[in-house]
Amino acid sequence: MESSESQSTQEPAEYHDGTQGSVVLAATPIGNVADASARLIDLLGHADIVAAEDTRRLYDLANRLGVHVGGRVIAYHDHNEHDKAGGLLDEVRRGATVLVVSDAGMPTINDPGMAIVRGAIERGLAVTCAPGPSAVLDALALSGLPTDRFCYEGFMPRRHSERIAHLRMMLGEQRTIVWYETPHRIAETMADLLSVFGSSRPMALCRELTKDYEQIRRGSVAEINESVSGDPPRGEIVLVVAGASDEEAEAVSSSSLSTEDMAVLSMDRALEDGLRIKDAIAEVVQEHPLANGSLANRKQVYAAVLDMKK
Ligand code: SAM
Repeated sequence: MESSESQSTQEPAEYHDGTQGSVVLAATPIGNVADASARLIDLLGHADIVAAEDTRRLYDLANRLGVHVGGRVIAYHDHNEHDKAGGLLDEVRRGATVLVVSDAGMPTINDPGMAIVRGAIERGLAVTCAPGPSAVLDALALSGLPTDRFCYEGFMPRRHSERIAHLRMMLGEQRTIVWYETPHRIAETMADLLSVFGSSRPMALCRELTKDYEQIRRGSVAEINESVSGDPPRGEIVLVVAGASDEEAEAVSSSSLSTEDMAVLSMDRALEDGLRIKDAIAEVVQEHPLANGSLANRKQVYAAVLDMKK
């Protein structure tokens, strides 16, 4: 088990002389500047170093909050965070407070920040968080779907085949599922969600949270798909989908077959429907995704058919 406290009472990885500083992850508004916490404003003014995903956006936020960024500002983004984290942690060891902010919401949630958190933990340096807005929880709470158990899946894969495999893998998930999405992929995503999850699963499409045009569309997968076609949503989007019922989860787990089961089913199918064995295998494999959402290897099923025929 791992545990850490901000002032590092855990077994330190290196010697502390009591003068070290800390890493502070701070959430920034996801649309409404008034959601900035008093602690964020104080940190922007007083941190020795501000590591910001986009320095222009940082200064824009500071201007809107009427705070002067007192410390040194450095760019800290997906492409350089592994290189920059070590140097920033050296500064923490020498006593600096390093504030980490992303463009919006909570650092580390589909945003930079994880490299410096892991580095601080490894070195036994203090790391803490000034929490605040994050689109995941905002959308989940507004969805009206169960919040007692949920999982966050980040962005769906971009490629259609990977998205389908991912959705198949999630089909039996019983917790409420949260995904981030973009307006230019929402139509394809909804079509894929409909094809894998079917029409009736309850869901919510949450867009432009905390902003003037905040909108929550609630309905079944089929209804939201139709609404996306008729009135394409713009801006930032979060999808929240109800988890599988006990019956749906049971149906998913029982529909997953072994290679040998698929071989038997394919032979029956070929016989009953007058299909070539390869076509029957293709159908059966497609209908019975594996538990991880991928499809069984057709050649292996074919080999199992040949074995059985022997
Ligand atoms: N770190 C951020 C957080 O804690 O929410 C997420 C950053 S991720 C790069 C950006 C995605 O978050 C957007 O594409 C969208 O899916 C979601 N998002 C951020 N702000 C949002 C908002 N105001 N309304 C809806 N979705 C939002």
